[in-house]
Amino acid sequence: MRVSVLRGAGDLVVEDRPAPEPGPHDVLVKVASVGVCGSDVHYEHGRIGSHVVDAPLVLGHEASGVVVEVGAAVTRLTVGQRVSVEPGVPDFSCGQCLAGRYNLCEGMRFYATPPIDGAFAELVITHELFAHPVPDSLSDDAAALLEPLSVGLWACQKGGVGPGSRVLVTGAGPVGLVAVQCALARGAASVTVTDVNPHRLELARDLGATEAVDVGSMPVSESGLEVDVLMECSGNQRATADAIRAVAPAGTVVLVGMGGDEMALPVSRIQERELTLTGTFRYAHTWPAAIALAASGRVELDRLVTGHYGLDQVEEALTVARADPHAVKPMVRPGA
Ligand SMILES: [Zn+2]
Repeated sequence: MRVSVLRGAGDLVVEDRPAPEPGPHDVLVKVASVGVCGSDVHYEHGRIGSHVVDAPLVLGHEASGVVVEVGAAVTRLTVGQRVSVEPGVPDFSCGQCLAGRYNLCEGMRFYATPPIDGAFAELVITHELFAHPVPDSLSDDAAALLEPLSVGLWACQKGGVGPGSRVLVTGAGPVGLVAVQCALARGAASVTVTDVNPHRLELARDLGATEAVDVGSMPVSESGLEVDVLMECSGNQRATADAIRAVAPAGTVVLVGMGGDEMALPVSRIQERELTLTGTFRYAHTWPAAIALAASGRVELDRLVTGHYGLDQVEEALTVARADPHAVKPMVRPGA
């Protein structure tokens, strides 16, 4: 099979490798579509957070495809089924797994996180429980984008977004745009989005945001806005500190975007207003709801897609957003 391999910072090549062989509980998936994520873009520079790419690595973790082979003990899937691949398989046995928080598993094996290879490949393997069948009404791209949708769903869950919530989403990138749609699907009364990119703000408005604010001209904390939940999706220190000042007493701040290791925040405001501040790390058990929301049309994923690339064009797919302000979600099609 052909795979796109990151050999070092900025050094991507297409290689031929033997097809992986599924274990008893695994399925082999022929990859149809893979979304490019902000974390893939950082890996291109050789690291993200605490993970350093010090050995060849296949990027890509937002994948869909078709089951082409099943392990001997597989009971839930058959050859030919279209699936959305959940990219992390936990160990099913550590304390966090047993408590139902498998996203915090100590033994997690997650695509494109060293040393586990990702999905910019013609074939991938996953445990049968993490290849979720999708209805034919979902496109290959949409099935792949159930992964970022899961990030948005999890953020809403952590933030307690519910009927009547007033919500602020900072950053109108792919995750911000799904967070907006998830908040609306959960009954939020208002969802304000901020960014400095007018194209993304317009898309946010089209996807149902109540208000889309360009914070290049005025900080959101000076606009008089007050919200119950902030989902911070920009990873930007100034945007985060500014937005926290718009959260009402007893409100919740969910840190979704990845900024630096450390960040200056308005701590006295958090104390005086008894705000709850939480991180989010991936998601757990979000695929059933993600599939239902996408299939029902309540969340639109295809509208985030702004381009398609083959395995030979992964470099271009990873860097397009830097040059083109219209780029939102480039997709890689390994079979193209
Ligand atoms: Zn575990």
